[in-house]
Amino acid sequence: MSDWIDLRSDTVTRPTPAMREAMLAAEVGDDVYGEDPTVNALQERLAGDLGFEAALYLPTGTQSNLCALMAHCQRGDEYLVGMDAHTYKYEGGGAAVLGSIQPQPIPHAGDGTLPLDVVERMIKPVDPHFARTRLLCLENTWHGRPLPLDYLAQARAFCNANGLSLHLDGARVFNAAVGSGVGVREVVRHFDSVSVCFSKGLGAPVGSVLLGTRALVDEAARWRKVTGGGWRQAGMLAAACMHALDHHVQRLADDHARAGRLAEGLRAAGVDVADQQTNMVFIDIPAGRLDAFRAHVDAHRVRLSIGYLPRIRLVTHLDVDDADIDRVIDVLGAFSG
Ligand SMILES: *Cc1c(COP(=O)(O)O)cnc(C)c1O
Repeated sequence: MSDWIDLRSDTVTRPTPAMREAMLAAEVGDDVYGEDPTVNALQERLAGDLGFEAALYLPTGTQSNLCALMAHCQRGDEYLVGMDAHTYKYEGGGAAVLGSIQPQPIPHAGDGTLPLDVVERMIKPVDPHFARTRLLCLENTWHGRPLPLDYLAQARAFCNANGLSLHLDGARVFNAAVGSGVGVREVVRHFDSVSVCFSKGLGAPVGSVLLGTRALVDEAARWRKVTGGGWRQAGMLAAACMHALDHHVQRLADDHARAGRLAEGLRAAGVDVADQQTNMVFIDIPAGRLDAFRAHVDAHRVRLSIGYLPRIRLVTHLDVDDADIDRVIDVLGAFSG
């Protein structure tokens, strides 16, 4: 596998030797009893860094979002969410299936925002005919795009005016911060809760952290247990996340620069590049040539995300270097040219 270049997602990274050493050295305990010192340290550190009262370490972002939704909403409540958002479309309908929470999907604007005038029309009147609208969910980054900072402030004011809570699926929130050129606190400060993935660009093998008030996090911890996510000596995994916070946040700028260079090189080679933001590049290949394209990249040992989203997605990450970028430009350029 070593000579394959895998740009399907930033989830494919493997822990670095230094990260593995940190994992090996981790002090551990039983996290169900709240006694894993490394898990506790990770939770306290991230809560402090991002400006929240409390934090909860969970196995996946899907479970983190689910537990957040179940902590915010009761049976018969409703959350407002983008119709292509992970928390609606890519989590098996968990909020509805397991939480009895009704989603109200909303079409995204081109920049990934949910237009607040549209959101407002979706809020249900207080009446037994309707689910009780409780929560607005946003996602940042959105297909690699950092949501505009002024939109986040507007969303907060909107939620305050309408009695809603505001949750962020911040799977790639550190990419959003680095991409916007601000500290991550600035990106999360308007939200009641935030879910952050460590298994994406930050390069840890496993784990997400949910941030919120003490009361919300306690409720989410209960749902984590109910959904089978109460884990024991998770400190070895938390140590990988601590290592990522120390060593893999600022370097996201390298991934973004490589994505920029990739987009530029592909354009110059005649590839139809639709967008590049942070660590993601999207390209278009005519539908009739997709099978040939898939065979071409496969023959040249390049893996891309093809047919999952409307566009082909290329994601840069920790395990991709400059020579890999050059090779991908050559391989894709050879197809279109
Ligand atoms: C990856 C991701 C998640 C969580 O995914 P898991 O694989 O369950 O960790 C949630 N939201 C977004 C936007 C993601 O990209």
